[in-house]
Amino acid sequence: MSEPWAGGSFGERARCLLAPNPGLMTLDGTNSWVLTEPGASRSVVVDPGPIEDGHVDELDEQTGDVALVLLTHHHYDHSEVAVDLATRKDCPVRALDPAYCFDGDPLADEEVIDVDGLRLRVVTTPGHTADSVSFVVPAEGALLSGDMVLGRGTTVVAHPDGQLGAYFESIERMRSLAASGEVATIWPAHGPVLDDALGTLEYYLVHRRQRLGQVESALARLGVAVPDPDDDHLPRRVVEIVYQDVDESLWGAAEWSVRAQLAYLAERPV
Ligand SMILES: [Zn+2]
Repeated sequence: MSEPWAGGSFGERARCLLAPNPGLMTLDGTNSWVLTEPGASRSVVVDPGPIEDGHVDELDEQTGDVALVLLTHHHYDHSEVAVDLATRKDCPVRALDPAYCFDGDPLADEEVIDVDGLRLRVVTTPGHTADSVSFVVPAEGALLSGDMVLGRGTTVVAHPDGQLGAYFESIERMRSLAASGEVATIWPAHGPVLDDALGTLEYYLVHRRQRLGQVESALARLGVAVPDPDDDHLPRRVVEIVYQDVDESLWGAAEWSVRAQLAYLAERPV
């Protein structure tokens, strides 16, 4: 692991409370973001996180009044204690997927949320999962990216829920927010904040296209013209070629991404 990450305060409106669930997929743990307009008494909590080691008690103690709990997507390391925290704070939970809402409406693309002067804009960014959303904090030039962009390395397209075509479109959409100057910094759901939003998003596009090119070369080596979605052994054989340079402990996650890439290549118009 490169630089250590423990959360902290960012800009005038954000605090990141790191959950105690470090791991292969969660990096240092889940970042629970607490956003408060200066002078306001109520906050918004984005991704309350997992049940591990009383993280919800920590959030409860550290936050005072909470007006709204938001989820970037349904994965349990983001959503597990959402209803518990919302019940303690007597507030709703909102997510894109109605199944994860509690006492609140599903989020809508381009919706502007205003809590005591704190403004957030919802941007639907499917790819990691179908229900992934990001939140722009215009006053901070920040983008809460959930798991679409991580503080280190790159993210996983969790196929079949996550789709590579959607992923490319979402990263492009985020890149244009950065290119227009609206977003300068990324506040991810795992790992450190990224102060070069544009550079990071461009790297994500280049990296994923490189991997896609490597998958195409691997398929050529294996003599496969168009991948068969029913071939259960193909993803692993491709991983063994493409991810030679990556630690084997990550091959499980790599296989998800390869499955997403094979599905993308199988459906791509020739
Ligand atoms: Zn996730």
